[in-house]
Amino acid sequence: MTKIVYPASTAERVRELYATGLTQRDAVIAAGLPCTNHNMASVIFRRLGVEGRRSGWSRDDSRARCGPNHPAWKGDEAGYTSLHKRVYRLRGQPNHCERCGLSAAYGEYEWANLTGNYSDVNDYQRMCITCHSSYDNERRAAGTYYGHREFMADYRARQEAAS
Ligand SMILES: [Zn+2]
Repeated sequence: MTKIVYPASTAERVRELYATGLTQRDAVIAAGLPCTNHNMASVIFRRLGVEGRRSGWSRDDSRARCGPNHPAWKGDEAGYTSLHKRVYRLRGQPNHCERCGLSAAYGEYEWANLTGNYSDVNDYQRMCITCHSSYDNERRAAGTYYGHREFMADYRARQEAAS
């Protein structure tokens, strides 16, 4: 079997997805890697150098945290990852970049959120990793970036307000 070398951005993405409460398997799939079972997922985690849950998570039944049982799953309150997965489910896996025109085997493609309206599946554009990060950087420079950190901070604030 050929040893697959993943780009550093893949590890970062898996780590970020996993940190939102997904199982290892769901994090690997949401990052766009092919993965069929939990054993494969833990092998990929090791190859990526992504650590498993810290002790605070270990008591949770990770299976119960998927889909509708996921703590971040609720209408517009739905978690960042659930919303991203929804885009992949409804619009498919991107295979080209709408910004630079890169396509097929020449890169890795993602659904990049455009304006921070994560629950709108049309607020996403197909981008290669390079265009995605320059797009995000342009928005950071303009002070209009609304990414994972901002989304989760708002989500936690809403949860606290509701409790
Ligand atoms: Zn591009």
